[in-house]
Amino acid sequence: MEFRWNVPVLGLTRLGDRVEGLATADGMIIGDSYVLAAGCDSPALARPLGLFLPIIPAKGYSMTIPVANHAGAPFVSITDDEHKMVYSRLGDRLRAAGTAEMAGHDASLNPARAKMILDHARTLFPDGGDFERAEPWAGLRPVTPDSVPLLGGTPFANLWLNTGHGTLGWTMACGSGRVIADLVSGRQPEIAMDGLGASRFRHGLPTMTA
Ligand SMILES: Cc1cc2nc3c(=O)[nH]c(=O)nc-3n(C[C@H](O)[C@H](O)[C@H](O)COP(=O)(O)OP(=O)(O)OC[C@H]3O[C@@H](n4cnc5c(N)ncnc54)[C@H](O)[C@@H]3O)c2cc1C
Repeated sequence: MEFRWNVPVLGLTRLGDRVEGLATADGMIIGDSYVLAAGCDSPALARPLGLFLPIIPAKGYSMTIPVANHAGAPFVSITDDEHKMVYSRLGDRLRAAGTAEMAGHDASLNPARAKMILDHARTLFPDGGDFERAEPWAGLRPVTPDSVPLLGGTPFANLWLNTGHGTLGWTMACGSGRVIADLVSGRQPEIAMDGLGASRFRHGLPTMTA
């Protein structure tokens, strides 16, 4: 197995009903099968093939707070449903995350939103850590209209989708990877695939254009 880090895919080239290869800045990469798992950039890569993927970015924020000698940080994961916030203990740090900001592909950090995350954390866990040294982060979640990922095949025989996991990409990563590995290898996945494919949307995956 070979990993090619930091090699952006510029486009997928097709040959009939198959994907022929990936055009990259380092030249063509040819494979037997291709899995599209490019997060919020998946639609842009699929579109030139005539495939419409209903995925948009929903920006989320996290604040990572050093626990230091504070005693009030939780040890288990906590979901604050009322404020749509989650809290995870990562060793000597407490991570608070939440919000869904629709700002297109702009992943920049809005300080007001980051502060809101911190304020919620401080209110819930007043002795949870050294809030002055919290580190902010923002990232884009690839969301679909029904918050279910796009998993499965496409009109191209050797192109598979593993994308659109929204707020739960880490949670579903292993299961999704297993399903795709089974499909690519010609095995029956252990879970029912109903309602997971892109064809569940009204326009679905259009038939290929010539
Ligand atoms: C604040 C926040 C908190 C979250 N908390 C949780 C949580 O607690 N639990 C959970 O399960 N999930 C959580 N998520 C969601 C999770 O991070 C996402 O669902 C997950 O990252 C999606 O994974 P992905 O691989 O599909 O997409 P991404 O993580 O976006 O990865 C896509 C990859 O494709 C690469 N790529 C894109 N275009 C190209 C190209 N043209 N060529 C080459 N590479 C390309 C990108 O560089 C990137 O590495 C959270 C998200 C946020 C923002």
